[in-house]
Amino acid sequence: MSDAPQQVIRFHYSVAEIGQPPMESSREGGEPIAALIGAGNIIPGLEKALIGKAVGERFAVVVPAAEAYGERNEALTQRVPKKYFPTQIALQPGLTVNLQTQQGPRPVTVLKVGMSVVDVDLNHPMAGKDLSFDIEIVEVRDASEEELSHGHVHGDGGHHH
Ligand code: ZN
Repeated sequence: MSDAPQQVIRFHYSVAEIGQPPMESSREGGEPIAALIGAGNIIPGLEKALIGKAVGERFAVVVPAAEAYGERNEALTQRVPKKYFPTQIALQPGLTVNLQTQQGPRPVTVLKVGMSVVDVDLNHPMAGKDLSFDIEIVEVRDASEEELSHGHVHGDGGHHH
């Protein structure tokens, strides 16, 4: 990705499955998010759509599943002991739960709840979905050396450390 523009783009977004109401919006929390272009911070289809845009531009972009969270893999289901789930959550089919795994928290969707085990779908909740984004560019700037070496944005909309 060394030929990608080394810029930081900060933007507001809302995202919806095509034809559905928005699932998520940065406008609700009020804070735009920031991405280091070329670093894989955001899904590839969205990164592509942001390149070359200017501050103040507002546009819609449709990102097909393959350039978003990937296609669904029907084989990606697993039976997990109930003890690995947070006890305060009433498990039911369709519910998305953050499961603690050795690779960190991972969102899974509950398929079936048994006495002591739970069948879950390990696909990302947005896998297989063509997504429609509404984007508004808030800031475009060059990335700092430090940001480039870390592979993410520092400051507003990014990491604080
Ligand atoms: Zn950092």
